[in-house]
Amino acid sequence: MQQEELLIKLEQAGIVGRGGAAFPAHLKWKRIKDLSNPKKYVVCNASEGEIGVQKDFYILQNFSEEVFKGMMLAMDFLETKEGYFYINRNYYEQLKSKIDPLVELFKQKSYIINVFIEEPSYIGGETGALLNAIEGKKVQPRFESPSPSVLGIFGCPVLLHNVETLYDVARVATDKFEKTRFSTILGGNKNGVYRVNADEKVAEVLRKTNNYPDFDFFVQVGGGASGEIFTKEQAETATIGGCGSIEIYPSTTTDYDFLSKIFNFYEKESCGKCTPCRDGSWQLKKLLDGLDKKSEIPWLEIKPIIKVMEKGSFCGLGKSIVPPVRSYAKNILGIEV
Ligand code: SF4
Repeated sequence: MQQEELLIKLEQAGIVGRGGAAFPAHLKWKRIKDLSNPKKYVVCNASEGEIGVQKDFYILQNFSEEVFKGMMLAMDFLETKEGYFYINRNYYEQLKSKIDPLVELFKQKSYIINVFIEEPSYIGGETGALLNAIEGKKVQPRFESPSPSVLGIFGCPVLLHNVETLYDVARVATDKFEKTRFSTILGGNKNGVYRVNADEKVAEVLRKTNNYPDFDFFVQVGGGASGEIFTKEQAETATIGGCGSIEIYPSTTTDYDFLSKIFNFYEKESCGKCTPCRDGSWQLKKLLDGLDKKSEIPWLEIKPIIKVMEKGSFCGLGKSIVPPVRSYAKNILGIEV
């Protein structure tokens, strides 16, 4: 296939980043292709650090050949022969029997795919932190500019894609792409990863996968850490965003249960580089320490901390605490935070 033809196919199919950002793939590809750098890299991000999300693991378990094919197509497009397969240690240990032979197979075709095994963490999947890790630097975010497409690793541009995006690329190239995406469903009768229509409404996904609850519930959509909260009525019109997960919570879930899950996670995963996130996440966790399920939640204290994290955090991790907390407060409790 001609390179220009693949680019048009990616655009027509509407292929976007499936790590959460949903940036159009064809724009990224073209931007890097147009750069004159003699060396460029393709990097596959298989970090998947969001709470409860398992779709990249599922894809690698079932369709690893397609993911590597997607990497190869991207390398051909950029006329490069080297890439990185960045994967968290837990996944690698379970999937190495699939990954290592593919690396070897591609080596025989003169493609060098370096497997980089990271210690599992939320920040490890953040773009700048991931690139720093590959360069052997501290696993912390970078300034957003210059973008990895310009200055990624070792002074060279990087085309960075999530596992699912590269899988989609391979499907598009073979005319098998059907405008579907993968969704991790948790808290239902049949937890697992499902292939669903990309623009399907959340409630419809639950019905079609036999996961629609027979109890009152709310859902978190787009990641167990950063996803937004919707009531069951809102789930009728909400579409699946972010990394495509849906987590069902019974409406008996207490404020304490929900918030302590979120606050504990962010306090543990903050990389410590900036004060708003490092101290903010610590303070949020402290506010709940010593409370129990029936305690009054100190929203007046929570609100300003959330605002500081939203405005002042250096990277997306610190800011991403805002959507779940704010949407929970608004949609479930009817208060503004
Ligand atoms: S927002 Fe959090 S994770 Fe991001 S740089 Fe600051 S401390 Fe690190």
